Parts: sequence; structure tokens; C-alpha cells
Amino acid sequence: MPQLPRVILLHADAPPKPPEGQACNGCGVCCATAPCPLGMVASRRRHGACAALAWAGTGGHYRCGVLAQPKRWLPWLPAALARWLVRRWIAAGRGCDSDLLPG
Ligand code: SF4
Ligand code: SF4
Repeated sequence: MPQLPRVILLHADAPPKPPEGQACNGCGVCCATAPCPLGMVASRRRHGACAALAWAGTGGHYRCGVLAQPKRWLPWLPAALARWLVRRWIAAGRGCDSDLLPG
């Protein structure tokens, strides 16, 4: 059965998604599509947008709420561990790892 197209909602000022492998610009496409493993715990769901995805208004990009406010989302985890886990799962600093949309 063919997969139906998905619609994700993003802020009108969000930057366009860069091609896979280029620097992450905080477009939010990946986290608005599905939560990473830690985002599943924070969101209490396995599908849809991650509840911890936050729009950084002044920066004009999205940011990870677990990185910014680990105690708000995962109060039972030491903050440093929560940040370390997120950085591991999103491969922070290694560029965009999402092939969801063409660049
Ligand atoms: S990893 Fe890619 S899709 Fe996810 S926020 Fe960064 S640029 Fe956007
Ligand atoms: S990186 Fe952060 S915002 Fe994105 S899915 Fe994971 S926990 Fe959620």
C-alpha cells in the first residue's frame, strides 16, 4: 500500500531545510516529523511532532527544548546526561542527518 503524504506544520519564518549533510540550520523538519528516542520519552508519544521542539523567535529557527531546558522535559534525568543523550541522538555538530525533503 503506498504511503500517504504527511503534512507537518512549521513556523512561517523557519528557514528552508538544507540538503542532508550540510550544517543544521534549525529548520525543525526532523523533529516536527517524528521525535527522536529521547523526544519520545519527553513527548510521551512515538509519532508526530516532538513536544519539546521549541521555536526560538529571536533566532528565527527551532531548537531542542530538552537541550535548552532538560529539567522541564526530563526532570528525573541529570541535566548533563539528558543533553548528552540528545546530542548523541541528533548527531549534533555533524550536519543535517534528515533526508525527508529535497534540499
Ligand atoms: S537536522 Fe536537518 S531537518 Fe533537523 S533541524 Fe537540523 S537542518 Fe532541519
Ligand atoms: S532533538 Fe530535541 S526537539 Fe528534536 S526530537 Fe529530539 S528531543 Fe525532540
